[in-house]
Amino acid sequence: MTTAVRILVTGGAGFIGSHYVRTLLGPEGAGGVHVTVLDKLTYAGVAANLDAVRGSDRFAFVQGDICDAELVDKLVGRHDQIVHFAAETHVDRSLHAADAFVRTNVHGTQTLLDTALRYRPEVFVHVSTDEVYGSIAKGSWTEDAPLAPNSPYAATKASSDLLALACHRTHGVDVRITRCSNNYGPHHFPEKLIPLFVTNLLDGAEVPLYGDGLDVRDWLHVDDHVRGIELVRTGGRAGEVYHIGGGAELTNRELTRLLLDAVGADASLVRNVEDRKGHDRRYSLDWSKIRDDLEYRPRRGFEEALVETVAWYRDNRPWWEPLKKRAAPLDSPGPGVRA
Ligand code: NAD
Repeated sequence: MTTAVRILVTGGAGFIGSHYVRTLLGPEGAGGVHVTVLDKLTYAGVAANLDAVRGSDRFAFVQGDICDAELVDKLVGRHDQIVHFAAETHVDRSLHAADAFVRTNVHGTQTLLDTALRYRPEVFVHVSTDEVYGSIAKGSWTEDAPLAPNSPYAATKASSDLLALACHRTHGVDVRITRCSNNYGPHHFPEKLIPLFVTNLLDGAEVPLYGDGLDVRDWLHVDDHVRGIELVRTGGRAGEVYHIGGGAELTNRELTRLLLDAVGADASLVRNVEDRKGHDRRYSLDWSKIRDDLEYRPRRGFEEALVETVAWYRDNRPWWEPLKKRAAPLDSPGPGVRA
């Protein structure tokens, strides 16, 4: 009998981490894995996101902080691999108070890396973002583009990427980094652009569109993102960075139009608000490396998957209503648009 690969997933109660865990333990998952989620359950962590796997004998949940060196030591020592999602993720919050971002994203990641150095897991996948590169007017970034983050969120993610790479280059730990574009899908915390707009529109409320609405993002369905992460976990190379893109580049204005149509709302609900400070104009990843090396392709067509996503929020009001109430309000114009 082969023994299961024990994977420690940090931040597994969040949007992408929980999708990853549900997928891994679901019918399309790798099989032969045991998953432990380590999650602090901050305002963004939702225990119910893991309800579908809670009964599995291949799943365990530990509520705790990735900055807790003693706890992290205990857990990393008992696992073969690490997939690291845990982070403070809302750009707008980082503009108001960056401390929690520095603590979790930088110090927390270094705590995991220090422990990985002691136990040498087979693989450590560090999940990052296209925002580490700043903004690009034309063309797309390749994995060797210089890091030039603008928001405090992006600066902490860039710092953690550099620490992760340093851990590989200095100590030879098998660290692999993924950087993806903007995700969408079910279980996305309703302060981020798509779920915020959809849930506001479902309530007949206005949606706050930053600036001229011409900022450009590439949208990646969370199914495609977790498939890309799995390809990197199982087939990627140590010390390498892999971009995971969605192939659906849109302005926020175009996206808003599609969301209005999908909900059946009209444009009078769009409120133009003052632009976010330091707002990046455009992100664009060249993801030919993961396509050529690991045969990654996004499978979800954007417009169809967006309609499906809107239907999920329409059908799952009990999931998002309490979350909208519990997220601490931001005093910026346009409460919490991340894109
Ligand atoms: P999320 O905010 O939905 O979830 C983050 C999770 O981390 C939550 O469950 C939270 O409780 C947990 N957490 C926070 N601080 C912690 C700590 N100190 N210790 C343990 N757990 C902690 O985030 P997400 O959208 O699922 O993002 C996951 C990862 O993907 C992040 O690293 C993020 O930077 C990256 N990413 C996200 C996107 C996107 O579009 N959502 C895009 C690019 C990269």
